[in-house]
Amino acid sequence: MTAVEHPRTAPRLYVVVPCYNEEEVLPETSRRLEKKLRSLMGQRRVSPESRVLFANDGSKDRTWELIRELHDDPAHDGLFTGISLAHNRGHQNVLFAGLMSALEHGCDAAISMDADLQDDVNAIDEMVDAYLDGANIVYGVRNDRETDTRFKRGTAEAFYKLMSRMGTETVPNSADFRLMDAQALQALSQYGEANLFLRGIVPSLGFQTTKVYYKRAERFAGESKYPLSKMVSLAIDGITSFSVTPLRMVTIAGSVFVVISLLALVYALVSLAMGTTVGGWTSLLISIWFVGGAIMVSLGIVGEYVGRIYLESKHRPRYIVAEELD
Ligand code: UDP
Ligand code: MG
Repeated sequence: MTAVEHPRTAPRLYVVVPCYNEEEVLPETSRRLEKKLRSLMGQRRVSPESRVLFANDGSKDRTWELIRELHDDPAHDGLFTGISLAHNRGHQNVLFAGLMSALEHGCDAAISMDADLQDDVNAIDEMVDAYLDGANIVYGVRNDRETDTRFKRGTAEAFYKLMSRMGTETVPNSADFRLMDAQALQALSQYGEANLFLRGIVPSLGFQTTKVYYKRAERFAGESKYPLSKMVSLAIDGITSFSVTPLRMVTIAGSVFVVISLLALVYALVSLAMGTTVGGWTSLLISIWFVGGAIMVSLGIVGEYVGRIYLESKHRPRYIVAEELD
């Protein structure tokens, strides 16, 4: 229909869905994605060779069995495929694995999307249109955060603010719901770091980008697979894998302490001359603790980076694919 006006032809689209213990939502997710892709195929906006690729992140429940069943069931006509990691390697790693698998299968574009249906399936239409109009990367940006708890909203806001202060370019209010074309995926495949933070890496790729707005729903079923501990570790990865600002802050803090200690020295000498040394015990005790604490914090930050250098220097594989359908 309208496809002829576009500079690009209908893409071989892969929808990549990371799944960790998602047996409760998979039947509904697959149903909605199948409906969406079939309708796009019917309108000739995506190629009939398009697929849904479930990337299983070492789930402990029946997730992988469900994916296999979807793949094997002739009723779905080969629409569903999947890979399964040998371990739980985390959202970012399994997503990367899924995107790379899609690239290897010769996709023209891949959309990454959460399994829990928080990302709006209907935004796929607009993403595909943006691709057809020539965009290399299309970000799904949520227009509100009302379905989040106040805690998650507050921490997310603080996080994005901190990230931009630290010099990491992110697209605010966009998570990992985005379309990338083969060229952008090819560029992404060259990033070999162990601490993956896709929300920072993808904007740093450049290319022609655009945004699609959508309303983020609540998780369809089951519980969040992102407890506070995983959120904190994602935030730390996001900052340390892009920025050495914390290291510079340690240096600045160190300099401030040197200045303070000089003032303290003057104070101590004056007190000594006036013969009131015993009275200084409290301040001395406080400053010892304070400086000790500051040193430990600083060492901790330095340690974060040293630890990361250690991890990167091993060049370990980020994940191991245990099984691949097709
Ligand atoms: N996920 C994953 N591995 C993990 C944790 C999460 O693959 O170790 C997937 C999960 O199955 C979902 C997506 O990442 O598809 C986002 O997770 P979730 O919805 O639990 O996070 P939230 O929306 O609560 O931040
Ligand atoms: Mg979710």
